[in-house]
Amino acid sequence: MEPGENREPQGPSPRSMRGRLALYYRHNERLLGEGRQEIAPQDLAAGLGLDEQVVAADMKRLGIEPGPSGALATQKIKAVAEHQLGLRPVNTAVLVGMGRLGAAIASYEGFGAHGMRIMAVFDDDPAKIGRFQGGHKVLPLEQLEDVINIFEIRLAVLTVPAEAAQAIATRLARAGVAAIWNFAPVRLDLPEGVVVRNEHITAGLAQLCSDLREANLRRLPPEED
Ligand code: NAD
Repeated sequence: MEPGENREPQGPSPRSMRGRLALYYRHNERLLGEGRQEIAPQDLAAGLGLDEQVVAADMKRLGIEPGPSGALATQKIKAVAEHQLGLRPVNTAVLVGMGRLGAAIASYEGFGAHGMRIMAVFDDDPAKIGRFQGGHKVLPLEQLEDVINIFEIRLAVLTVPAEAAQAIATRLARAGVAAIWNFAPVRLDLPEGVVVRNEHITAGLAQLCSDLREANLRRLPPEED
């Protein structure tokens, strides 16, 4: 941004992070409106007339980590700021199992419109931990309970292999998760009060194949007497 261009009103920096959060949110909305997917922390600081170190410390506290390019994902800033400011009744969620399916779900931005915002993703594979995927830094399982607690998470997406699903689901429930969107092909045994939605993409495929078979049969020429 050029000096003076589109700058937020200058003045003393708000003393509390909550005060600055409103500034981050407003500025970030403008960036999103311009189609920006990322912003460098120093540009965010400059755009708001804030000290770079203050902005870096705020982002760290909020769990908004710079990506490999050193920039912050604007969608992540939006999600965190909206949650912290209580702007939208979205359900914040964690996702466990950043494999092929987990990564696809975590990258999809459309879930926000349906009431779910993924705040953090977890995996137990050391090769994935610390790497960025779909705007999220993959976190180790040791941080699961803390993140659930800090962000008051009640919803979880489970995309681990079947054999790992029950142990993770139990851990999620103990940490306070009340609803699990389960993609693992296993029936979860959970305390009363925890709701589970088992998702079977393959059930839809089986139906489609059956419909195709029937359509093919209808297309066969009538049998001759
Ligand atoms: P994947 O192997 O690509 O990914 C699984 C991920 O889970 C890996 O990154 C792995 O490191 C991680 N993981 C394993 N154990 C873990 C643990 N204890 N804690 C945290 N992370 C752990 O598998 P995928 O193809 O993405 O499938 C994921 C799950 O979704 C599987 O259970 C699969 O059967 C299921 N699936 C369901 C549907 C459906 O229609 N419901 C479709 C595809 C896959």
